[in-house]
Amino acid sequence: MVIKLNGKELSEKIYKRLENEVNFIHSKDKTLNLVVIQVGNNQASNVYIKNKRKACERLGIGFQCFNLVEDLRFDEAVEFIKQINNQPYTTGILVQKPLPKHLEGIEQYISPEKDVDGFTFENMGRLVTGYNGLIPCTTKGIMNLLEEYEINLKGKHVVVIGRSNIVGKPTAISTLAKDATVTICHSKTKNLQSITADADILICAIGKANFINRDYLTSKCQCIIDVGINRNEDGKLCGDCNYNDIVDYWNDLEKAGYSENRYITPVPGGVGPLTVASLMENIVNQILNKCKD
Ligand code: NAD
Repeated sequence: MVIKLNGKELSEKIYKRLENEVNFIHSKDKTLNLVVIQVGNNQASNVYIKNKRKACERLGIGFQCFNLVEDLRFDEAVEFIKQINNQPYTTGILVQKPLPKHLEGIEQYISPEKDVDGFTFENMGRLVTGYNGLIPCTTKGIMNLLEEYEINLKGKHVVVIGRSNIVGKPTAISTLAKDATVTICHSKTKNLQSITADADILICAIGKANFINRDYLTSKCQCIIDVGINRNEDGKLCGDCNYNDIVDYWNDLEKAGYSENRYITPVPGGVGPLTVASLMENIVNQILNKCKD
């Protein structure tokens, strides 16, 4: 059977739990506040920031967005971030990407305990070495989704396509921590199809509309996580994987006698909603743990 991994539904479940946790935090006279730092006025960033604001408002988490000018110097941006770090009422900080080239890396000056995107060297280092820290939100969402549907990674061959710091690498590390055997592929990988053909679980974070289809799969593949958010020729949102072609292929396999369950995320409604929900989890957990201490 083909099973749709419903990220939207899981995100609603997470929000319900977070609502109770935020109420508990407020009952302890503590508040939660997210500061987003945006440089310039990128249209896609505006949409992502709006979604984060809406999620904060829904949960009763304070939200502030600072829009900095594009010709700000690196040291000025760092000084600004340090000031925000020192505000005791600010519990989470993130720098919205993309940044102008000369400001790349300013997120490294966010205090690790307020780094709710999990991108500082401290939190990345914790992830790689297996210590508790703040995990990048898309990766956290993917791991939550796999757990929700009881997809066991132990001994499975996980193929991750994409090696970005925000998705590919942290996701590969997180699946390794769950005892998967992991292969990371990227734009210079040779014979991609021969590698994906051996995947039990395929995670795609490429950024190319409908790139992966049945030609990349064999009957071995049980699960596809599509991280991509792209527009097709008609301007419609789509993932890195050709959802309909893959589902047709899996239905053909079933008719041919392969009876295993196979799982796939839709786009939209798969990983996307979980990324914002995981950001909210990162904001809440930091303070929740302090309330329980
Ligand atoms: P990126 O551009 O930083 O990385 C893309 C990766 O794909 C690179 O490592 C590159 O080597 C690899 N790649 C490109 N062409 C390839 C090819 N032909 N064969 C194999 N590998 C190839 O992108 P990113 O920030 O990691 O994002 C990837 C996609 O995920 C984008 O569509 C982005 O919009 C989406 N995204 C979604 C969410 C979400 O919440 N769902 C979050 C972040 C990113």
